[in-house]
Amino acid sequence: MNISLGKGGEVKIILAFKDKERVDYAEELYTYLKEREIFEGNSGQVFAHISPKEERVLFLGLGEEDKVSLESLRKAFFNAGRELMKLKVESIDITIPEFKGLDYLDAVQAIAEGLLQSEYSFEKYLSEKRTITSIKDVYIDVIDGKEEESTKAIEEVQNIIEGVFLARNLINEPNMTMTPEILANKAKEELEEVGVKVDILNKEEIEKLGMNALLAVSQGSIEEPRLIVMTYEGDPESKENIVFVGKGLMFDSGGYCLKPAKGMDAMHGDMAGAAAVIGAIKSIAKSGLKKNVIGIVAACENLISGKAYKPGDIIKSMSGKTIEVTNTDCEGRLVLADALWYAANNIKADKIIDIATLTGACLVALGDITSGAITNDEELMKHVKKASERAGEPIWQLPNSDEYKELNKGTFADLTNQGKGAGAITAGLFLGEFVKDTPWVHLDIAGTSYLSSPRGYLPKGATGVHTKTLYYLVKNLEG
Ligand code: MN
Ligand code: ZN
Repeated sequence: MNISLGKGGEVKIILAFKDKERVDYAEELYTYLKEREIFEGNSGQVFAHISPKEERVLFLGLGEEDKVSLESLRKAFFNAGRELMKLKVESIDITIPEFKGLDYLDAVQAIAEGLLQSEYSFEKYLSEKRTITSIKDVYIDVIDGKEEESTKAIEEVQNIIEGVFLARNLINEPNMTMTPEILANKAKEELEEVGVKVDILNKEEIEKLGMNALLAVSQGSIEEPRLIVMTYEGDPESKENIVFVGKGLMFDSGGYCLKPAKGMDAMHGDMAGAAAVIGAIKSIAKSGLKKNVIGIVAACENLISGKAYKPGDIIKSMSGKTIEVTNTDCEGRLVLADALWYAANNIKADKIIDIATLTGACLVALGDITSGAITNDEELMKHVKKASERAGEPIWQLPNSDEYKELNKGTFADLTNQGKGAGAITAGLFLGEFVKDTPWVHLDIAGTSYLSSPRGYLPKGATGVHTKTLYYLVKNLEG
């Protein structure tokens, strides 16, 4: 899909508001549809009319004029894209007006994003494709004086969506074709072409670093772990950096605390945090944001074998803190403990965001709509919240008081890897034990990263959630 400024598509998209009687094109047809209550202009409603001779239009409902949001635009234009693809339309024409209460360029991006989102599918293993993309050209007419900035905004959103789709593809790929080694190589291939330095540490190097928690989790698999360090120098003059740490469990069986069969097939998605980090860095580098960003992914597998770690084991993590394994399925926080320590201690991160499919408890609390968040720094949290709103990827902050931290205390070791209750909070605060005093925000995407049925523009399977949030966060910090 090529999006550019101009006119001349074969189908015109006509925006219709529920509380407005008129549209500025194909008025007769519109009135007819409205009178018969066939088309009311509800948000996301579409009605396409194509014929060889008459005007070809797609009426796109946007609901009440005052209630249009970036998210409702994304959803509506996603629907429009899908409808037009069904009709095998190859080119479209849109005039973008000003929307009350919305920044013009943000609205342009939301519209372009909705259309781009409509093209996503993961069908490489299907003999017959189900999603046939047809739209080649989108011509956008913007208000006077906004041409140059709109072109830039469209370019930017294309870079962002490329990162989101990359993240989704990495997650949707099954474990047999997405091992720690394959992920590392894929990150190298995708990121080096946009000027990011990618270092891959193998098992021996990980052993030298003393990452015993990561090693303990991965010791049950024949696939060796990898530590992937991705360095993007967007601001070489500055020494400041922001570090993204992604959970990269390429498969999580639960280990000896085995998960039930139902739902285990989706556990190749336990690396969605890693994928979001890789996707976001791709978008950031492609857009050339002026900020130093480092991504760290600890990739491994949590399996069962004669060598696997067991409940009751006590691990000395890279930080020196000891952890007793109360539950082998609480492996994410072990792997992240070493990755976060590496970020805080070795890389000397100025800010850390970690993103992880960490707890089923978070899914229970917030469903698959909102991610959980926890922090040791309200200022950084403010920035993350703002970025998540801009991205349309909601988060909800969880408490971080000392009473909760107490719940992570171990009996025979400093910490236990399964806190006593408050699952999403104790898991988040466990991670906080390994970031020193670095300002840090943790995002739990166990619910939001993978959907059992599509919602809005999000497909079934991987959503790529927070790839956009990480992008907008860096963009906001840049200014
Ligand atoms: Mn687990
Ligand atoms: Zn896991």
